[in-house]
Amino acid sequence: MSANCIFCKIAAGKFGGPPVYQDEDVTAFRDINPQAPRHLLLIPNKHIASVSEASADDQALLGKLMLTAAQIAKQEGIDDNGYRLVINSGAHGGQTVFHLHVHILGGRKMTWPPG
Ligand code: 5GP
Ligand code: ZN
Repeated sequence: MSANCIFCKIAAGKFGGPPVYQDEDVTAFRDINPQAPRHLLLIPNKHIASVSEASADDQALLGKLMLTAAQIAKQEGIDDNGYRLVINSGAHGGQTVFHLHVHILGGRKMTWPPG
């Protein structure tokens, strides 16, 4: 756990409501400022500042994030119509919280290119 990291606090159950999904590796919860009818964040319980900061030791954890995101999309009922997974990294990527997170967005048709 990294001191003053809001997502570490959420993963530890010290902030926010009950998670949508949690196991020993990852936690999912609803975004406080949703950009789509369904907008969840999926994080590793371990503090990794960004995908750029992940190491080879995190390979299985990163794979688990992808597979769990797909599982949550099914649970949220957005699997049939499709959804978008987004990982913002760094300033140009638009990252604002420096604990790696996957955005799971669905419930409306997404546009491309992203803003
Ligand atoms: P980023 O811009 O880093 O890719 O995404 C950070 C996301 O975290 C934003 O969509 C923002 O709304 C969300 N967020 C920031 N603080 C909180 C919080 O305290 N609780 C929840 N549930 N979401 C948060
Ligand atoms: Zn953290």
